[in-house]
Amino acid sequence: MSAQIPTNHPRLKSLLVREKLVNGFMRGLVAGEGLIAHGRGEAFDYLLGERTTEFANLAIITASASLLLARHPVISVNGNAAAICAKEIVELGEVTSALLEVNLFHRDERRERSIEKELIKNGARKVYGVGSRASARISELQSERRRVDPRGIYVADVVIVPLEDGDRAEALVKMGKKIIAIDLNPLSRTAKVAQITIVDNITRALPAIVSMVRQLRCLKDDARLTKIIKGYNNKENLAQSLRIIQRGKNAAALSEKLQ
Ligand code: ATP
Ligand code: MG
Repeated sequence: MSAQIPTNHPRLKSLLVREKLVNGFMRGLVAGEGLIAHGRGEAFDYLLGERTTEFANLAIITASASLLLARHPVISVNGNAAAICAKEIVELGEVTSALLEVNLFHRDERRERSIEKELIKNGARKVYGVGSRASARISELQSERRRVDPRGIYVADVVIVPLEDGDRAEALVKMGKKIIAIDLNPLSRTAKVAQITIVDNITRALPAIVSMVRQLRCLKDDARLTKIIKGYNNKENLAQSLRIIQRGKNAAALSEKLQ
C-alpha cells in the first residue's frame, strides 16, 4: 500500500485503485486515454454509492449462468482491466474455462506484450490476441480495432468485455456473440448493446462473478441456469441502475459516511 495514503482516508479503496492504474501506466500496460476513461467510471461509481446494487447483482447472477452454459467463452482484456484486476481475470478464466484475449482500443504490440506478461505473472497459462496472433478481422469494424484472435473472440459464443468501447461491443453483437459488459455507465453504448450489462466497478464485479459461478456450478442444473437467463431483462435492469443514480440516495449515503 502507498505510504502516502492514510489508512483512514475516506476514499482509500478508490485511491488505491487509482494508484494501480497509474502504476500500470508507468509500466506500459495502460494508455493515457485509459486513465481518463477510469475517471468517467469513478464518477458513476460515486453516484451508485460505490457498492454492488441489487440490479448489478442480478446481472452478475445472469452473467455467471451464461458463462457456465457457454461452449467457448472468452474474457476480453484491456490495459485498465489488467492493471486493476489481473489476478481476478485469471481466476475467472480458470473457473469458467474461458480464454483470455488481449483486446485494445489503441492497438500497440508493446502494450499487448506487457498485458500478456502481467496476466502470466498472475497465473495465466496462455494469452490470446497478442501481436500476429490477432489475425482475424471483425468485418463490421474499420481500422486496427477490428483485429481479433481466430481461436479466441472470433469463434467465441460468449465474450465478457470489461470497459469496452461501444463500437466494438456493437460489432461483436452483430457477429452473433453474447456480450457480457462490465460498465459503470448505464448510458454508454456498450451498456446498451450488450445482452447482459453489469453496472458495477470491475474491482467488485469480477470477484462476485467468480463466487457466483462456483455457487451455481454446484447446482448441476442446466435447466435452472437457462431459466435465470430467460427471466433477465437487460433494458429494465439498466433503467433500474439509472434510477438509483437519479435518486441520488446511494451517493448521499456515501457522502454522509465520509463526513
Ligand atoms: P461507449 O463507447 O460504450 O459509449 P464511452 O465512450 O463513454 O462508452 P469508453 O471510454 O469507450 O467510454 O469506455 C470506458 C467505459 O468504462 C466508461 O463507460 C466508464 O464508465 C467505464 N469504466 C471505467 N472504469 C471502470 C471500472 N473501474 N469499472 C467499471 N467500468 C468502468
Ligand atoms: Mg467509447
